[in-house]
Amino acid sequence: MSVEKSNLEVAVALPVHHTFTYSVPSFLSPFVAAGKRVLVPFGQRRVTGYIMGPAAETEPAEIKHILDVLDQDSLFPASMIPFYHWIGDYYKHPIGDVIKNALPGGLTLYDYAAVSITAEGQTAIRQKSLTSLQRSVLALLESGPCRLKNLNEKLNQNVPAALVQSLQRSGWIAKTRELKRASSLTRTERHIALGRPDAPRDRLSKARCKIIEILGRQGEMSMSDLKSRAPDAARLVRALEKDGYLTVRQKRVYRDPFGETIRADSALDLNAEQQRVVAQVTGRLGQGFGVFLLQGVTGSGKTEVYMQIAAEVLRRQQSVLVLVPEIALITQMERRFRARFGERIAVLHSGLSAGERFDQWSLILQGKAQIAIGARSAIFAPFDTVGLVIVDEEHDASYKQENNLRYNARDLAVVRAKQNDCLALLGSATPSIQSCYNARVGKFIEVNLKQRIERRSLPGIKIVDLRESMGYRGVRRFITSELQRAIKQTLDRKQQVLLFINRRGFANFAICRSCGQALRCKHCDISLTYHQKANALRCHYCGYSRAATSSCDSCGSSEIKKIGLGTEKIESTVQKMFPEARVARMDRDTTTRKGSIFRLLKGLKNQSIDILVGTQMVAKGHDFPNITLVGIICADLSLSLPDFRAGARTFQLIAQVAGRAGRGASPGRVVLQTYNPDHFSISAAKDQNYAAFYEQEIQFRRALKYPPFSRMIQFKISGMDPQLTRDHAERLGHLCLALKTSNAPVYDSVEVLGPIESSLAKIARRYRWQILLKSTHVKDLHQFIGRLMADHPKVFNNRRVRVVVDVDPVSLL
Ligand code: ADP
Ligand code: ZN
Ligand code: ZN
Repeated sequence: MSVEKSNLEVAVALPVHHTFTYSVPSFLSPFVAAGKRVLVPFGQRRVTGYIMGPAAETEPAEIKHILDVLDQDSLFPASMIPFYHWIGDYYKHPIGDVIKNALPGGLTLYDYAAVSITAEGQTAIRQKSLTSLQRSVLALLESGPCRLKNLNEKLNQNVPAALVQSLQRSGWIAKTRELKRASSLTRTERHIALGRPDAPRDRLSKARCKIIEILGRQGEMSMSDLKSRAPDAARLVRALEKDGYLTVRQKRVYRDPFGETIRADSALDLNAEQQRVVAQVTGRLGQGFGVFLLQGVTGSGKTEVYMQIAAEVLRRQQSVLVLVPEIALITQMERRFRARFGERIAVLHSGLSAGERFDQWSLILQGKAQIAIGARSAIFAPFDTVGLVIVDEEHDASYKQENNLRYNARDLAVVRAKQNDCLALLGSATPSIQSCYNARVGKFIEVNLKQRIERRSLPGIKIVDLRESMGYRGVRRFITSELQRAIKQTLDRKQQVLLFINRRGFANFAICRSCGQALRCKHCDISLTYHQKANALRCHYCGYSRAATSSCDSCGSSEIKKIGLGTEKIESTVQKMFPEARVARMDRDTTTRKGSIFRLLKGLKNQSIDILVGTQMVAKGHDFPNITLVGIICADLSLSLPDFRAGARTFQLIAQVAGRAGRGASPGRVVLQTYNPDHFSISAAKDQNYAAFYEQEIQFRRALKYPPFSRMIQFKISGMDPQLTRDHAERLGHLCLALKTSNAPVYDSVEVLGPIESSLAKIARRYRWQILLKSTHVKDLHQFIGRLMADHPKVFNNRRVRVVVDVDPVSLL
């Protein structure tokens, strides 16, 4: 583009919904390009912006110019800009903030202010008039630029900002902006090969000759492999290298989450069903946009299908995006993809350090990686064009981001595929009602895997009615005699057990023996949960903690009784029942430390754990062949949440956990304990009958006009002051009603529900209200909100009461 003439369109990182036009001073024009960050004046401030491209023709108003270009290379390709715009419009989110969310976190870390010495400074250092501090600063900088922040530390004394400024004014030092290179945290290993095969050997020792012989026979080897054959290799290789007999080079190694080196594999022979699915999807490649819904029972070999389709896309020189709901699963997916596709993979997720994330991002930008694997944010992987977007476990609620930019990566996968004119492939054993509906009405193409690999049977599910489980008190009651017997049989056969407990909605709480009140959080009005290890009562919403020996807030009695159910209690009860067994627990408390999830998974894999007790974390896609018993401690827990998706969530959870059993050669079984054996979510899950469940559920959704028969937008209104928050919620409610009635025929389909106080009325000191808007017409609903926000910007941008717009909300609490 002829840059001097064309102005730039810039999105600023501020809560504004449109972009701005800036001019480019000539000295910066060689550096501008779409996808770079710039510094621009905005009102009285200077802010970061993103170059979107040349600006459209504008009226000859006064245009400000950009102050600086912050990046050497673009952070995203221009082809992603329409995607960002779509997201901003649909989720009613400021465009600059959409981009900020899309870029790898911690990016700003890469810019820092540094100071360096100038030529004048180098002469000035010899002046007698300098103070000793001035001299030390200059002397330090002679050895190289220094980060402003580190000046004090390096000189071991306090350097006042005024002194730095005065040195700068004298022209002795200059402030610069440095780009910090991400440190490479990749692991490498030495590989040894023969140097001069014809070099004379007659003067070499026997040990040295042996090494040369091994390498002559085997070709290049890693140091660890060589050492396993010649234990003194490490010492000898160095000398042999020096004399030119050997060459040594560092090669990158990939490890799986268990720290084991990944060995290359090749495509498996597909079974007939898998072949059919691969043929159907690949047959549709190159013919524009389309969405496949792959419904495949757990253990049916979906990942192999993904990989073979991906291979075909790569053969067509296009890239592939793979979304996985959880970090632990990403690494499992990564391991399998790495084994197949080697170095062509970039991984994007929050478990990486900022530096690692930036490295992975760069691999994609530079065209070195053609496959990106990651959690929901990987939908933003900066491929110029995409040939296929895969979403594994597409029903999973964690694809929805629940803060800031509230997008749903599964839905965005379809949008990105549409914009790229390519295919999306959504896979699940228990698809979301939304996706299944889309398949039924012909928007998606359904493909199926109905058989487990090698025709392994799905585990049989035995329902145990908890209402009949009398006799025991407390937690003992939840390890029914049936479950206990099954555990014993499994352990006797040296097989493994998974005990699943859904801790949301029902936990172990503490109540007062004299007045019966539960101990609650001061900030959230939620019952506190007892944590045995810390001997404390904790709030699961805000983290508030108090000693377990507290006395009752209502009557002051110190007789507090702890009751209920939790992973920790189940763990200790089971351990008492089976003292010989090695019991472990996986939940948020045992997995906060980096790597702890993998230690637990490794324990399962190498069978140093006999019984694993865990929350939803254990339910998702792991593949452990020796688990033959899954116990679902109380299936009702998720049914009781105040949410229209509670039934679907329960069905999905049960089917997913049950799917963990019997993935190896021995058959699996499931003991499902419940107070509601007749509930259709539970009985359908017992038969693993997705179709039956869907038929029931879709009727209920249709009757009450819940999604997919409507769309929803929720306003989440919160503030520290209860009265102000309530007033604001009511004001917004009135505005909604006024807009609806004054445009009666247009907005007839829009229903305004609320404002009501949220069912979690207070979280982390904030009072919470909500308004739900619902409509059978997406367009009307979005237009309605657009009008409302444009007409009343102040209501949505209030200092004391926050209004968050949640489009297609997943959590309604
Ligand atoms: P899902 O994701 O559907 O639960 P996986 O993809 O994890 O299933 O596959 C289950 C197991 O079956 C894996 O260990 C996988 O390697 C194996 N597998 C998949 N396809 C085949 C095949 N065609 N032949 C043999 N084994 C297969
Ligand atoms: Zn009391
Ligand atoms: Zn709290």
